[in-house]
Amino acid sequence: MGSGKVTDWQGKHVTVAGLGVSGVPAAKVLHARGAIVTVVNDGDDARAREQAAELEALGIPVRLGDGATLPEGTELIVTAPGWKPDKPLFTAAREAGVDVWGDVELAWRLRGPDAAPWLAITGTNGKTTTTQMLASILKAAGLRTAAVGNIGVSLLDAVLGEEQYDVLAVELSSYQLHWAPSLRAHSAAVLNLAPDHLDWHGSMEAYAADKGRIYEGNRIACVYNVADKATEDLVRGADVEEGCRAIGFTLGAPGPSQLGVVDGILVDRAFVENRQKNAQELAEISDVNPPAPHNIANALAAAALARAFGVPPKAVRDGLRAFTPDAHRIAHVADVDGVAYVDDSKATNTHAAEASLAAYESIVWIAGGLAKGASFDELVAKSAKRLRAVVLIGADRALIREALARHAPEVPVVDLDRTDTGAMLQAVTEAKRLAQPGDTVLLAPACASMDMFTNYNKRGDAFAEAVRELGS
Ligand code: ADP
Repeated sequence: MGSGKVTDWQGKHVTVAGLGVSGVPAAKVLHARGAIVTVVNDGDDARAREQAAELEALGIPVRLGDGATLPEGTELIVTAPGWKPDKPLFTAAREAGVDVWGDVELAWRLRGPDAAPWLAITGTNGKTTTTQMLASILKAAGLRTAAVGNIGVSLLDAVLGEEQYDVLAVELSSYQLHWAPSLRAHSAAVLNLAPDHLDWHGSMEAYAADKGRIYEGNRIACVYNVADKATEDLVRGADVEEGCRAIGFTLGAPGPSQLGVVDGILVDRAFVENRQKNAQELAEISDVNPPAPHNIANALAAAALARAFGVPPKAVRDGLRAFTPDAHRIAHVADVDGVAYVDDSKATNTHAAEASLAAYESIVWIAGGLAKGASFDELVAKSAKRLRAVVLIGADRALIREALARHAPEVPVVDLDRTDTGAMLQAVTEAKRLAQPGDTVLLAPACASMDMFTNYNKRGDAFAEAVRELGS
């Protein structure tokens, strides 16, 4: 189908790969535009059957339990972003010269001629927070906007819905970027890069390359993290529009074309006149919620994108003040006997947990769960001096215990040999016993939650419940 805009879907044979959040609306939209749509889906469970029935009632055939075979005559595949590139369906597509688009690519192609520009955000950690901060800043500037993408609101809905937008704050996962070859953002940011989802991408290089696609064709600014050279390298490698600028963010004093921090103030030395000499005050560190170092970095990235869009300094401050983070992201649960209890259940990988641990001086750390193949040595070595004690839970806790023995042998460790849900109450009880006034008891598991809980929300809720039970 080339890279141009497809305006005529009439009679095009499109295969939608995967039911679910993106597949069902994609199939409906394409069908409504006259395409001949077939849906293929690996699974054949009750939910899939329900969705298939809904589509079949509209005249869209669905092949359940057969996501591998390329339907005869397919001219384009629209895939769910999570489908792995090495699936036989895609091999067959390549051999047949059939393009594959993800949900983001589809939304990008279907948006209207006067569509709102996209300010796009990716990174291993901090995407949701930064996208929401950005939307809050854009709103404070009086712009019609929404936080969309890998964040609950589908891009297809945002692009085709009734609502008119001036600009969109778009969170993109590495999967979505992989399948979005022609996306061209107004400006984009890669917050950080640490190994994650490598089984899907195949290698760190492939993962980085997919993240880096977010910069392709940027018009105004490519925002990178000065402390994470890999993000800067991605900017260098990107083919951008003439005049597009590389803008760094840093927790230190900013150089020209950077945003950074000076004496507790977030300042802009990029979008100001005479940036060799001038800096513009944007906000105070205390305007950022919570003011943990990694979150200040998120705020600076959001501010950089907003400033690239022409938002005035005051709106950056007002937007940051108005922002409240989603649950389970460094959420302060309670103070009990001079000890703070903090829920960062969303720290599901070591990179996130490291950022979280860096935010406190003396910590009783509750960690563990499903390690997803991660190594804990670097995390433990970097955080050792902040640890008062550690309470380990979950299936892969031995991996963390071994890393602690290697890098922090003096730190007391309580290893809870149980994975039932009630283990959280015991973990918090142990943490309470080990903590001293002024300490923080921090749930930052560095692991996925599914060995003990339905998801990270439930894990965080169990922590908060246990804290309340012990505090009352
Ligand atoms: P994502 O959408 O990328 O998963 P979130 O904003 O939901 O990111 O944050 C997930 C977790 O990642 C947070 O709970 C926190 O522990 C950690 N985190 C947030 N921002 C950063 C950052 N800039 N660097 C490292 N870790 C971060």
